[in-house]
Amino acid sequence: MPRTVFFETFGCQMNTADSEAMLTALRRAGWQPTEDVESADLVVFNTCAVRDHAEAKVRSRLGLLRELKQRRPQLRIALAGCMAQREGRALLARHPQLDLVVGTSQFSRLPELVERLHEEPRIAALDFEDWDERERADVEPAPGVNAFVPIMRGCNYTCTYCVVPMTRGREQSRRPEAIEAEVRRLVAAGYRQVTLLGQTVDAYGKTLGDGTTLAGLLRRLHAIDGLLRIRFVTSHPKDITDELLATIAELPKVARHLHVPAQSGSDRILRLMGRRYTSDEYLRLVERARRFVPDIELVSDFIVGFPTESDDDYAATERLLDRVGFAAAFVFMYSPRPGTPATRLADDVPEPVKRERCQRLLERQLAQQEAQHRALLGSVLPVLFEGPSKTDPGMLFGRSAGQRAVIAPRDDALIGRIVPVRIARCTALTLYGDPLP
Ligand code: SF4
Repeated sequence: MPRTVFFETFGCQMNTADSEAMLTALRRAGWQPTEDVESADLVVFNTCAVRDHAEAKVRSRLGLLRELKQRRPQLRIALAGCMAQREGRALLARHPQLDLVVGTSQFSRLPELVERLHEEPRIAALDFEDWDERERADVEPAPGVNAFVPIMRGCNYTCTYCVVPMTRGREQSRRPEAIEAEVRRLVAAGYRQVTLLGQTVDAYGKTLGDGTTLAGLLRRLHAIDGLLRIRFVTSHPKDITDELLATIAELPKVARHLHVPAQSGSDRILRLMGRRYTSDEYLRLVERARRFVPDIELVSDFIVGFPTESDDDYAATERLLDRVGFAAAFVFMYSPRPGTPATRLADDVPEPVKRERCQRLLERQLAQQEAQHRALLGSVLPVLFEGPSKTDPGMLFGRSAGQRAVIAPRDDALIGRIVPVRIARCTALTLYGDPLP
């Protein structure tokens, strides 16, 4: 009988990609994925540490497994990823049902660590190591049109609210030839779009010290026949060079999309966050991006309720949002993360104020998005269809050359193709249209 593994992923796209790598390694070692946690021989949670909410979910899942482990003591439970790295060995003490803690540089060792549990009952593997290309060898992403490809890991910035430098370590870039080989393999397997991932993806190449840049990597990948679109997330405002913007403008396969978090519009708060730019500098970046790529769609993250954020600071964030006209924005309430420098500041914005600012900023953003979408009614957009819509399987889901979600009547022959679509109606979040012959 093959041994079975129940796998659950929390958090960002990087975690999705890491889970795909771990699952591939487990499959190669003879494990078979199962949806049934009750009968699984191994349970793996790939975790997120960005907000306490994400960690609380994992703690609750672990609690549910305690009883299962009592009934089936041979069950093995592993916790991998950012929460594992952040809390480390302490997790084993806190959760007696847990067998294995796997840090963010140790994913490729997961099958070997599970085997080692026969000799050593409880293991925490947490060392930061150099990028191990074995981790990406033959990774099988979820079936579909898009594949996530991590091109770097870690971060050399020190934003005061962020756990990433603790959980992912210092910045490391993969070799461009290894990334190209992976993308060629994925395209040969039928994927048509790659999303290149990094915490500060626009800093890609810096640590290689040989002049490698994201712009150069985009050129390299653009030459691959059969690849239709290339996306990359997430960018830091300081690392977007003119060379990168000129490359996006020049290469038609590169999405007209920059996810470049502003986080706040208040210079005082940006300083406290350690973001290393002012709101003016951010606005100048927006201007520069639009000069090079007039149809670029900008997407931002915002944190509201950062310590000491006053009404005036919040108002500055609204002003920035209005001045830029983002194509989308993700708004989060500040949540202090243990061990980060921002915890030295009192978390003094009351919860209801945080919630209200979060709501107001989101509503403001959605009103702008709806107006942008209305302006697109009647126009024709090139849409790469990715598959059936998750909310309505009778329809197809795709994305524009930027990042807008487009829904059209289902025709499976269109999946994996870029098709002109005339936009007929819209909501703030979605465009609906009809493919043209
Ligand atoms: S640049 Fe992004 S990943 Fe790096 S410390 Fe700042 S918020 Fe965290």
